[in-house]
Amino acid sequence: TPILSLRRLSRRFGGTLAVDDVSLDIAAGEIHGLIGPSGCGKSTLLRMIAGFENLDAGEIRLSDERIDGIAPERRGIGIVFQDYALFPHMTVAGNLQFAMKATPRSERPARLASLLAMVKLEGLEQRFPDQLSGGQQQRVALARTFAAAPRLVLLDEPFSNLDAELRETARDEIRGVLKATGLSILLVTHDREEALTFCDRISVMKDGRIRQTGTPTLVYDRP
Ligand code: ADP
Ligand code: ADP
Repeated sequence: TPILSLRRLSRRFGGTLAVDDVSLDIAAGEIHGLIGPSGCGKSTLLRMIAGFENLDAGEIRLSDERIDGIAPERRGIGIVFQDYALFPHMTVAGNLQFAMKATPRSERPARLASLLAMVKLEGLEQRFPDQLSGGQQQRVALARTFAAAPRLVLLDEPFSNLDAELRETARDEIRGVLKATGLSILLVTHDREEALTFCDRISVMKDGRIRQTGTPTLVYDRP
């Protein structure tokens, strides 16, 4: 069974059908990209899955459990938005520990060490965000999301505020980290090149609908 299952989701704003009858399944461990022009409904769809936007119609299941109607913080979904929003006055360790409220105090040091190893930031735990590269900051943001032990992670244009050179390195680093976690990822991107190199499968949205879903090469080889 898929980890995430979207069935006939719709969301209207006035006269605009922002999301129009969208169905999609995402498998365990899959990195799935959502691409399409600005205004096609990508962010709205992500917010519906996260629980920040109501559904007008449809169902969302996570590991076969119905989650629409459940509060965002209880869905088991981790989210990393464009601006990673690390706390600038806290070290890497502080940022990660902040997300470990649910972890018993005695288990936090070991958990912190394993998160740092996962994103390959060992030795940097006493640095502040402005002492890290953009790619390193992005990995701290990911680690903070993993700290909450999510079942699915949503990324909204995760590389958009990195410069072009850094973006390629960060992309490779982060793809490796994500694949190692075995988590399922749904990410929004504007960038075809990024979708092609980063994702296992992609869905192309237009005017609120998913027009195509497939492997990147399949989608891009079609006219
Ligand atoms: P994308 O993320 O692909 O750029 P969005 O999901 O942000 O697209 O927007 C889809 C459509 O829904 C757009 O026409 C946008 O203007 C509209 N929209 C999104 N959010 C709102 C809102 N809160 N109120 C009114 N219209 C909205
Ligand atoms: P993105 O480009 O990342 O999709 P947008 O700039 O479209 O983001 O939207 C940013 C915020 O503005 C979102 O919270 C969205 O709901 C809201 N929004 C987008 N379009 C409209 C709109 N036409 N009317 C009201 N709010 C909107």
